[in-house]
Amino acid sequence: MSSFDAEYDVVVIGGGGAGKSAAYTAAKEGGLKVALLEKEAETGGSSVHAEGTGAFESSEQKARGKPDDSWAHYPTRAEGFQRYMDYSSKRCNPAVVRMQVNNTAETIDIYKSLGITYTYVGIYAYDQPAELYTFHRPEGLGARCQEVLLKACVDAGVEIFTSTPAVSLIKEDGRVVGVVASDADGQEVRIGAQAVIIASGGFGGNPEMVLKYSRFPNALDLGYNGPPGNTGDGANMAIAAGADTWEMGTMMFQLAASGKTFSAHISGAAVQPVLWINKKSRRFWDEHVAMSFADSANVVAAQPGAKVYAIFDAATVDHLIEDGSDVGLGDWIVFHQKLTNLRMELEEAAQEGEMCWKADTIEELAAQCGLDPAKVAAEVARYNGHCEAGSDADFFKDPRFLRPVVTPPFFAIELHSTVLVSCGALKVNGDMQVIDTADQPIPGLYAAGLDAGGLYGDSYNLDVPGTANGFAHASGRVAARHAIATIKG
Ligand SMILES: Cc1cc2nc3c(=O)[nH]c(=O)nc-3n(C[C@H](O)[C@H](O)[C@H](O)COP(=O)(O)OP(=O)(O)OC[C@H]3O[C@@H](n4cnc5c(N)ncnc54)[C@H](O)[C@@H]3O)c2cc1C
Repeated sequence: MSSFDAEYDVVVIGGGGAGKSAAYTAAKEGGLKVALLEKEAETGGSSVHAEGTGAFESSEQKARGKPDDSWAHYPTRAEGFQRYMDYSSKRCNPAVVRMQVNNTAETIDIYKSLGITYTYVGIYAYDQPAELYTFHRPEGLGARCQEVLLKACVDAGVEIFTSTPAVSLIKEDGRVVGVVASDADGQEVRIGAQAVIIASGGFGGNPEMVLKYSRFPNALDLGYNGPPGNTGDGANMAIAAGADTWEMGTMMFQLAASGKTFSAHISGAAVQPVLWINKKSRRFWDEHVAMSFADSANVVAAQPGAKVYAIFDAATVDHLIEDGSDVGLGDWIVFHQKLTNLRMELEEAAQEGEMCWKADTIEELAAQCGLDPAKVAAEVARYNGHCEAGSDADFFKDPRFLRPVVTPPFFAIELHSTVLVSCGALKVNGDMQVIDTADQPIPGLYAAGLDAGGLYGDSYNLDVPGTANGFAHASGRVAARHAIATIKG
């Protein structure tokens, strides 16, 4: 039998939304002795960036009655369940989806009890068709939620160890009995536990794992916009302990102008459904895919170098500044937002000449981008023909977004597909117990949030907005409740 440096009832690996939710529940509801290990100097992970939380039949939805849009309604749990099944092409795990639709509403009540107010309940982006009205936007967004949940954990008696990454699981006689961690001084510590809950935020920050598991052969060309700690530690230690996986390669990507923030107006301009040209100097898609940041980033991720060029003219610049964006970029650039900084940002970036270029002819512009001038000029001429005809014979883009590229100066912005987080993860059951390759739960081991698979098919579903954050909190809580029940017999 192992000897331990310290012993707890529950050890939680990772201090994001899922980990904190698990730790809080185990300590507050179960009265258990809980350690939360966080690899970074601060807890929070990607959860501090989340703008909203998805939930079904929440008290906030019930109190509001119906969304502002006269034709819309808040979805029932049954509608949510069906949507997840349909979107994933039936590749999700019904037990996990059931857990999601039945438990996300409670998260909203818990946050309200901790002092969070919800400023909006509805959809995420007005330009995505068929979105369900599940998005709950808290005052102060994810950063504030993580702050109050951290305090709640501390108040409930959770012992939090930052700069303390979990390294491996300790397994004896088929059950997980603890964790090996590296403490803040770099010393190895062996921590005993009756239950270990893995909530380490997936592997989005580990390019080799993205390459290994995702369907993108050029994964190493992707950018990264998630937190540094999410490098697949939890998944790897569970796999080493015999765990199985579920749609492991599913990723959440987002587009941005190369090296620029999501809220930069130059990013907002590049993600509009303007003409997109790839590194082969070819138009390759209906650019209106931009209405879903996840889908459009998947499309660009599959192009050479995971980068393309958004090409537009001076008239489109005027349109984006005066009339506003045609599509949003998540909550960072909202639908119809006037991109008032665009001219200044374009001029500055064109001066630097690294990700934005400006020229009076298309050939000159293409040459600056390193593209084939003759091919790009031919593509632009063909595209302008579609605009004139009001019909896109190549990709059937909605005619509302056919803006010709005719008025100089012309601009090109390099648009890069970046990883936010991974969504494919460990195989779990509806209680968030990790399932092994023989299809049996591994006693003592749970996974939550981005480390728990089963909610997605091959892509993140933005049409149920707030899904990942809703799942993080609900799955952490459900894992902790099963651990409490098991420990207390
Ligand atoms: C920029 C951005 C915006 C987003 N916006 C939204 C949104 O609006 N709505 C939405 O639903 N989703 C959003 N997401 C997705 C978000 O990741 C999920 O919503 C969710 O919050 C993930 O929670 P988690 O607890 O699983 O992971 P995280 O919050 O990422 O937490 C994982 C934690 O584990 C730690 N860790 C890693 N390895 C170890 C180890 N070995 N030992 C100890 N600790 C470890 C990490 O440092 C991190 O703190 C966004 C993601 C990003 C990157």
